[in-house]
This record gives sequence, structure tokens and C-alpha cells, in this order.
Amino acid sequence: MLKIAKYPDPILRKTAKPIRDFNAALEKLAENMARVMFADDGIGLAGPQVSQSQRIIVVGDGRGDHYEVYVNPEVTFFSKDKTSTEEGCLSLPKIFGNVTRPKKIHLKYQDLEGNVIKEKIKGLKSVVIQHEVDHLDGILFIDRVEKITKGQDILDSLKK
Ligand SMILES: [Zn+2]
Repeated sequence: MLKIAKYPDPILRKTAKPIRDFNAALEKLAENMARVMFADDGIGLAGPQVSQSQRIIVVGDGRGDHYEVYVNPEVTFFSKDKTSTEEGCLSLPKIFGNVTRPKKIHLKYQDLEGNVIKEKIKGLKSVVIQHEVDHLDGILFIDRVEKITKGQDILDSLKK
């Protein structure tokens, strides 16, 4: 079982590397990431969060334990209209805060076979994907947060 890297683990601040090998090991990594995500009741997980500095994210779609895998995801469009969501993160347990992000995105990514896919995404899925793509660039939701709603004390103690 993969272990979740918790803030302030420095791996969370590194820029993750593009994936070039679409092989069985990558499939296994995606599977293991999904397992860890569901075990911790998450709806999204990025490579660096399991100490794999690679550009891969998995996102649950709310249908039981079904999930989607995005390799080398790249947001190619952000809508001007924004939405505010209370976000949390498996790497920052028990800390929550409001983050405003673009409502809709266009995403370009690869599937586990390396096929390039372009998708228009809105709703909660758009927010989750933006949060996870941030992880690939070493950005955490606490960098974008307007207001911590829960766990300010925990965050303060971690920052010390
Ligand atoms: Zn996160």
C-alpha cells in the first residue's frame, strides 16, 4: 500500500516529471493510487501525494469506487466565471478552506495507453482536477485559500 505524503513533506513542493513510459508499472501505480484515495475517503490524488514525483492524477467520480486516470494533464483553458468551494486535501488532514477557482476548464491529458484526449470539464470535477494539477506543480490549496474554515490551529502548528 502506498503511503500519503503529508505537509510539510518537501516532495509536495517539487514539480513532478512528465510520464513517458506507458507500461504495466504505470497502470499498477494508478490502481494503487486509487486504492489509497478511496481508503482515505478522498476524491482526488496526485502522484507527489504518494511520493511519486510524476505527472499522474486519479479522480473519483462519485460512483462507488469508479475512478478516472489523467496522465500528463494540462489545463488549456480557464473560464472567466469562478466558483468558491470548501476544499480539503489528503496531504493536509483535518484542514479545510474556501478556494475560488475558474468554473470550467479544458483539459488535455493522456490515458494509460498514451492516447491524447481533450475534454471540457465543469462542476466539482473541474475543481478537483485543478486542485490535483496544482499538486503536480508543487502548489497546495493553502496557497490559494481565502479563508481557512477548519483546522487553522493544526496548520499553524505544521508551519512552525
Ligand atoms: Zn490535495
